[in-house]
Amino acid sequence: MIEVVNITRTYQIGESSVKALNGVSLKIEQGEFVAIMGASGSGKSSLMHILGLLDVPDTGQYRLMGREVSKMSEDELASLRNNVAGFVFQQFHLLTRMSTIDNVMLPCIYSGQKGDFRKDALARLETVGLSQRADHRPNQMSGGEQQRVAIARALIRDPMIIFADEPTGNLDTKNSHEIMRILTDLHKKGKTIIMVTHESDIAEFAERVITMKDGVILEERRKPGSAVHLSPTAQAVADIEHPSIFKPGRMMGFVVQAFQSIVANKIRTLLSVLGILVGVASVIAMMALGAGARASMEEQLKSMGSNLLSIRGGSAKIGGAAQGSGTVTRFIQKDADAIAALSPLVSRVSGDVTGTGQLVYLDKNWSTSVEGVDFDYGQMRASTPTIGRWFTREEIQGRQKVAIIGTTVAAQLFGTTSPIDKIIKVNRINFTVIGIAPAKGSNGPRDQDDVVLVPVTTAMYRVLGKNYLDGIFVEVSSAENINPAKKAIDALIRKRHKVGAKEENSFNIRDMTQFQQMLSSTTETMSMLLGSIAAISLVVGGIGIMNIMLVSVTERTKEIGLRKAIGARKGDIMMQFLIESVGMTFSGGLIGILVGVGVSMMLATFAGWAVKTSLFSVVLASGFSVLIGLFFGLWPARKAAGLKPVEALRYE
Ligand code: ADP
Ligand code: MG
Repeated sequence: MIEVVNITRTYQIGESSVKALNGVSLKIEQGEFVAIMGASGSGKSSLMHILGLLDVPDTGQYRLMGREVSKMSEDELASLRNNVAGFVFQQFHLLTRMSTIDNVMLPCIYSGQKGDFRKDALARLETVGLSQRADHRPNQMSGGEQQRVAIARALIRDPMIIFADEPTGNLDTKNSHEIMRILTDLHKKGKTIIMVTHESDIAEFAERVITMKDGVILEERRKPGSAVHLSPTAQAVADIEHPSIFKPGRMMGFVVQAFQSIVANKIRTLLSVLGILVGVASVIAMMALGAGARASMEEQLKSMGSNLLSIRGGSAKIGGAAQGSGTVTRFIQKDADAIAALSPLVSRVSGDVTGTGQLVYLDKNWSTSVEGVDFDYGQMRASTPTIGRWFTREEIQGRQKVAIIGTTVAAQLFGTTSPIDKIIKVNRINFTVIGIAPAKGSNGPRDQDDVVLVPVTTAMYRVLGKNYLDGIFVEVSSAENINPAKKAIDALIRKRHKVGAKEENSFNIRDMTQFQQMLSSTTETMSMLLGSIAAISLVVGGIGIMNIMLVSVTERTKEIGLRKAIGARKGDIMMQFLIESVGMTFSGGLIGILVGVGVSMMLATFAGWAVKTSLFSVVLASGFSVLIGLFFGLWPARKAAGLKPVEALRYE
């Protein structure tokens, strides 16, 4: 079954090299019980590692059940180890954070088979007489018991060959004999057993003893009368399946394992996850702040109107001083009508006049600004009342004494009573209140809600005594039309007021959108800034995770060696560590989301800041925490996966 021809193995340590195997040829039949004897350093373990597919020879051939081993890939070797070999080591190599039964079941994860292996594992524990200790931890048991658990683990996949490297090396005589009795029983049941030992009384249990010295076989002895017991479970190596690591059964196993190892290092995990947690929380909170700022800004912009031009008499002011000769164009309603005729370039036009007014209601007095506006103004400047109604065209044409008051005025004059249909005096003239304009907040020092709106005609001829407009608001039909509209209006006014094309302007057209763009780009920059600060903290958190994963890989080198010995492939180890790091970052991310949402809510309620948590930021942050786990977990996982089984097992 096993056939090696003239194999050599040389270890390189810096400049010097050690020839551990120096031309070993050996044949082992199915069902044999072979002991490899020899002094320490004679090459026994090196030989066994090669026979057990944990290591490959430098030269020579190794045929296992007729197949040349040197032609197999690393993953094929891992599958073979999982299916035909069981290992028992001097140091037991049990994983201390798992129960006995989980240790025994461990090789099943890497078999790719689905199912509940507890029953199988219990049966194996029964074989070694430990079924009552299934839920104990390895460190709650004696050395002899631990080694029996290791034997149960070696048996779980029904291997043909058991490899045992000094299985009694760490045990007293009584326990040693117990272990040997178990191995002898297994041999009688048909298992092939290859055991390394340096004690001759232990070697006596075997039927064939091979003695090694300095990397070569010195002599060979077969017990008289020994027979080869043929294994009843002979299977062809070629049939061994090569399962994908993405099989659901495997993945589930990895998730459970990752969870176990996370739980095993609670404090450490918590601390390293803290970075991600803070990062995600700040991403959420910062994005909520940015979105809140943008939303309140948009609210303000809406109250300002969109694509708005404001045409005033007088030349453009620079630094508060009027430029030019000082002639001021005075607009009349006909100008506004002419501009309205520029449709479809402009969509709405409203002339306006402003002045101050003394308001009186019963015994209350309030001084405010009076604004005379046209019918379209309500739509253009988002001033249509939500309580009450806007002016009708008839009211405006007929100079009716109706008023819409701002919320500040409403509060000053009426307190909590409804002002609708009440009569107030504006500069000693009686007006009926027909609505309350929606609140707009303040624009700089000016309270935009401290205003009373009246029809433009009423304001001009009844309240303020003007026969001209102070200005005209124009809503351009679309953003692209703003410049053409400005040109057209400029030309129109020059023509109507006989201002030469080269002459100094006696009026100015202000583009309100410039101001809006500036405002929105400022908020944009601010939220980008906030976002990048938060992103940096996420990256820092990721580096913390990478650090802890690297420590974890080093710490668990032996565990990785053991996993590889029992059949874990590169991809399996990699997957396990990736799931672990992603598990950490993702759980940190979830808690971070809760914290972030909590913080933004607190900012909103206690500091009164505008915040707006969005589902998008939650999805983004959790997605990023997964990506960070993948990205920063990749290097440690690769490092773990690349370890050579023998070296990893030997690691101290
Ligand atoms: P045994 O198991 O018989 O004690 P080993 O097979 O472990 O012997 O080792 C044989 C020789 O190879 C020893 O001299 C040992 O120091 C050397 N050796 C074994 N493994 C390594 C290694 N990984 N690196 C360097 N030298 C090694
Ligand atoms: Mg050894």
